[in-house]
Amino acid sequence: MRVLLIGSGGREHALALGLAADPSVDFLAAAPGNPGIAQVAELHEVKATDPAAVAALAVELAADLAVVGPEAPLVAGVADAVRAKGIACFGPSAAAAQLEGSKAFAKDVMAAAGVPTARSYACTGADEVRRALDDLGAPYVVKNDGLAAGKGVVVTDDRDAAERHAADCGRVVIEEYLSGPEVSLFVVTDGTAAVPLMPAQDFKRLADGDQGPNTGGMGAYAPLDWAPDDLVPRVLAETVEPTLAEMRRRGTPFAGLLYVGLALTPDGPKVIEFNARFGDPETQVVLALLETPLGGLLNAAATGTLAGHPPLRWRDGAAITVVVASRNYPGTPRTGDVIEGAEVPGVIHAGTARRDDGALITAGGRVLSVTATGPDLVAAREAAYALVNGVRLDGAQYRTDIALSAVEGRITL
Ligand code: AMP
Repeated sequence: MRVLLIGSGGREHALALGLAADPSVDFLAAAPGNPGIAQVAELHEVKATDPAAVAALAVELAADLAVVGPEAPLVAGVADAVRAKGIACFGPSAAAAQLEGSKAFAKDVMAAAGVPTARSYACTGADEVRRALDDLGAPYVVKNDGLAAGKGVVVTDDRDAAERHAADCGRVVIEEYLSGPEVSLFVVTDGTAAVPLMPAQDFKRLADGDQGPNTGGMGAYAPLDWAPDDLVPRVLAETVEPTLAEMRRRGTPFAGLLYVGLALTPDGPKVIEFNARFGDPETQVVLALLETPLGGLLNAAATGTLAGHPPLRWRDGAAITVVVASRNYPGTPRTGDVIEGAEVPGVIHAGTARRDDGALITAGGRVLSVTATGPDLVAAREAAYALVNGVRLDGAQYRTDIALSAVEGRITL
């Protein structure tokens, strides 16, 4: 199978490693890719959000399967354009990707499907915003309606800050605060059949102890030994199946990766958000534990044959990833800093680039996603932080407490 992978971040490097390890994948290209992905795939330049350009590249490479990593190309219609050329594509149509592209759309689908989620209001003006904030009370949760790369959400007790964020965004969804530990569940689907992957937990805040601003994600781990035994079947029955049915009913079936972000509240799991693609950095840990060949699984979803796919196999043990970010992230990250010690197995590249002289340099906010497995979380943590200590980057920021509360048994349901 000839595969073209679209994207350039840590998630795509993890996907590339999984695809390259699949014996059924005999050719792997990535566009635009990054220096880490270049170790396992042939890189091509493309504007990932240009549907015609991506489709033309898939044709030129005689790809059997395209895998679209990030959300922006999906919302732009890249999967539709690739499929229009008769090439299978893992990733939803632009219409179905609205589950991530618009928070208000996602809320509408959830309401129609009866999915457990936070009460919410879609608001456009200051009056609507004030009424919603009055009704729902603090802590205030204000979400930019459109794509914001995981950074469009403000959760705050500060009423002025909530109103300011709403005014900055224009159209927002304001919702009830959900308390309880968060879980990310990835579901591979062809629109009808749904195959859940292993639940993982990510860390959105920049600093230890869940302090500092929200980021795209600073680390993740799996499995979640503390999660209820019935979590996955319950979320499939209460959330995933009804959502897929509602999307089919609307004539826009969702095929690809449905990311369900959940809060495990005292009333049960409730949806915080849907995404239309693999989450970053949870993908790094989930794929590190997946034994089933990745290309075959994604191809089954892309070709509508997922019901016939064999059950997934998982490796024993645990996986952790620790994101190393550049100076000033998540503000305006400093780029061009030299990175040393990062070209070793387990170090997944996200915002890196190759300088003309061959040096590896920072090219974005989240620079590396340092990933390790071990027989348990304690061992995986030690291995991941040993790798982090081997990385030399001026101004590097990373959390030292990824998976620590799980290791110490401090997560309460
Ligand atoms: P989102 O981009 O919707 O995933 O939101 C980013 C982060 O904001 C989530 O991972 C949560 O930590 C937090 N968040 C979003 N919605 C809620 C909510 N309704 N209640 C509590 N926290 C939330």
